[in-house]
Amino acid sequence: MSAASDPVIVNNFIDGDFCGTDEYLDSFDPSTGQVWAKVSNSSAKDVDKAVEAAQRAFPEWSELPVEKRSEVMQKIADLIESRLDEIAEVESKDQGKPLWLAKRVDISRTVHNFRYFATYALHDVNSSKIQAGFNATNYTVKCPVGVAGLISPWNLPLYLLSFKLAPAIVCGNTVVAKPSEMTSVSCQKLCQVFQDAGLPKGVINLVFGYGKTAGQAIVEHPGIPLVSFTGGTATAEHIRRSAAHLCKKFSLELGGKNPAIIFDDCNFDKCVETTIRSSFMNQGEICLCTSRIFVQRSIYSKFVEAFVEKAKALTVGDPKDINTFCGALISQQHREKVVGYIEGARKAGATIKCGHGITPLELPPRCQNGYFVRPTVITDVDDAAPCMKEEIFGPVTCIVPFDDEKEVIARANSVKYGLAACLWTENASRVHRVSPKIDAGTVWVNCWLVRCLDMPFGGVKESGSGREGGKYSTEFFTEEKTICIQH
Ligand code: NAD
Repeated sequence: MSAASDPVIVNNFIDGDFCGTDEYLDSFDPSTGQVWAKVSNSSAKDVDKAVEAAQRAFPEWSELPVEKRSEVMQKIADLIESRLDEIAEVESKDQGKPLWLAKRVDISRTVHNFRYFATYALHDVNSSKIQAGFNATNYTVKCPVGVAGLISPWNLPLYLLSFKLAPAIVCGNTVVAKPSEMTSVSCQKLCQVFQDAGLPKGVINLVFGYGKTAGQAIVEHPGIPLVSFTGGTATAEHIRRSAAHLCKKFSLELGGKNPAIIFDDCNFDKCVETTIRSSFMNQGEICLCTSRIFVQRSIYSKFVEAFVEKAKALTVGDPKDINTFCGALISQQHREKVVGYIEGARKAGATIKCGHGITPLELPPRCQNGYFVRPTVITDVDDAAPCMKEEIFGPVTCIVPFDDEKEVIARANSVKYGLAACLWTENASRVHRVSPKIDAGTVWVNCWLVRCLDMPFGGVKESGSGREGGKYSTEFFTEEKTICIQH
């Protein structure tokens, strides 16, 4: 039994067993700044071993009836649910997010992801067509692709990985996955669940470590025909270029700079409340968070006043505290980046209405060295400013006024990203007129983060390519083949 202060050791999970690597990297608890885990620093050699295990497991797993695959996945979901508190605690400590959020969103939705795809695939049907003139019957079969490479980021570690793992394996693929080097511990807990659920050896293999080594080896491995990646746009550009000659299937879920467009006929109180959540939930470290708020001029001052008052009241601090709304940012380096945008805006003449540099942080002694930033609201800022154009991925949002519909659509669309948007209006015609014109994969009208897994999820422009969710995920993780029989 190790002492409480000994770091957790995160080993790779290959061929159904945990195995060590030559080197380990430090993983920090963002709320204290202390090293709390040593994570396998995997090399291309480790990735080779994982791919070999996944290739060995593929024939049997892919031929197993979908009902059997579904049964194992339901068991996985049940086990995660029964260990929800334990896994949420690890997720919060590793990522910095409030514990209540990890319980209510991250881990609960991980359970849902496994259950959803376990049952979804049971009802998936193939298409068929009879061509009378040719005496031919055509039908399609959906075949698993092979070994799927899954690469995920640090902001919603287990949730985002499970949204790839579940459709990949229910379709009969086997997997080599790499979570972010900064948030690997909950994934190790998941591997324990795979063992306990009786998932056959080699069906899911996890290699931990850096993107430029382990991640790059997955992307370039000739034994991995498809890669599902969630992360930054710059990383995706690099990945796409480095694997261009291999003709792999790619699904890319990338960054965002999401607008909220607020018309003066909105349900004001609901709008303010929800936009606070959409701007600052998970410390603003959700790819779907709002970071540009366009408010119609007639209600602009009223909105800014109400929004700033609520932002000031948000509790920032110990992720373990039930009253904490914003926990710690993922790393010291990321905190510096976020603060850099705020300082840059201030120097350029914008107004910092509240947050970093204005409202002091009051942290408990345990969290004095953590990576915290208060929810920050910026006004009097030009659309061309870096904080209005670039993804900050922290608790920072800008509020700007607009006059009319055409103008606000053009301004909302004036960034390179197109992931998600919020539209606030009680006018049904405007909803139908404006929503399709916004450059975004998802437009939430009078709400935010209401997710239906049947619907396609993904981005336009530099926010990604491909869609995840229901049939969109199963399409990606299968090859649909046409069989044509002449009678
Ligand atoms: P990142 O691109 O730095 O890393 C993502 C993953 O890619 C990590 O596992 C990392 O180790 C790996 N990686 C890095 N370099 C690699 C390489 N050369 N080859 C292979 N893998 C490599 O992103 P991040 O900082 O972890 O996550 C934040 C970003 O993710 C933000 O831009 C955010 O918007 C985006 N994101 C998007 C979605 C979405 O659904 N669209 C969801 C969550 C996060």
